[in-house]
Amino acid sequence: MIILVSNDDGIQAKGIHLVVEALQGLGDIYVSAPDQEQSAASHSITVNQPLRAKEVEFPGAVKAWAVSGRPADCVKLAIEHNFIEKPDLVISGINHGANIGTDILYSGTVGAAMEGYLCGSSAIAISQCSKKVSMDYGAAFLRRLVEGWLEQADRPRIMLNVNIPPLPAEEIKGFRWTRQGWRWYKNAFEERQDPHGKPYYWLHGDAYDADDDGDTDCSAIAAGYVSVTPLHNDMCDHAALARLAANSFIKE
Ligand code: MN
Repeated sequence: MIILVSNDDGIQAKGIHLVVEALQGLGDIYVSAPDQEQSAASHSITVNQPLRAKEVEFPGAVKAWAVSGRPADCVKLAIEHNFIEKPDLVISGINHGANIGTDILYSGTVGAAMEGYLCGSSAIAISQCSKKVSMDYGAAFLRRLVEGWLEQADRPRIMLNVNIPPLPAEEIKGFRWTRQGWRWYKNAFEERQDPHGKPYYWLHGDAYDADDDGDTDCSAIAAGYVSVTPLHNDMCDHAALARLAANSFIKE
């Protein structure tokens, strides 16, 4: 099995090293990750400047590249430019911070995994919700998840978004399969003044979860469970499509 590992916190981040360590023995592991932090890069790619890929030493990996681009660039370049054979599995993380609810749309961690999914591999994005808690539980959970996926006879292509609650290992209650919730922010921007008296703005809000009826990723995390959400690249609202096709408001 070929596993490609990436992230959005940069190739030096602790989380990506824990992933490679946790998956030892399950396959040939390759790393292609940004040469600096790219959090909140979403699924963006680089089109107006060249990409550089520097081969670097990475303990536990067959080969590794530090790429001067976005998380999705790293995955796309490694697969589409044949740095490696097509991976069976692309893993992105472990991210330092939550990627739940609508925050998924901004996430570079999820962007890298989604690129792997678009390239035809199965993909897992994994995040630890607190930067202050050990990532060891998340690394062990990832190993269990990958082993379970490997044992499936048909191994259907799947894209999963995993979040580990911000708790010490002994307080985590288990895991739940969840749907994507809705996360928004109060006081999203803080206004300050620069030395010239002009205002500037810094994104820094207090998260709150709407649409929280108990089966979302946000509610699983709040209740102390690992959240596992299957994702898809299809952004079409199929219910709206059926409704609009039957009763269009655009005049012929
Ligand atoms: Mn990040």
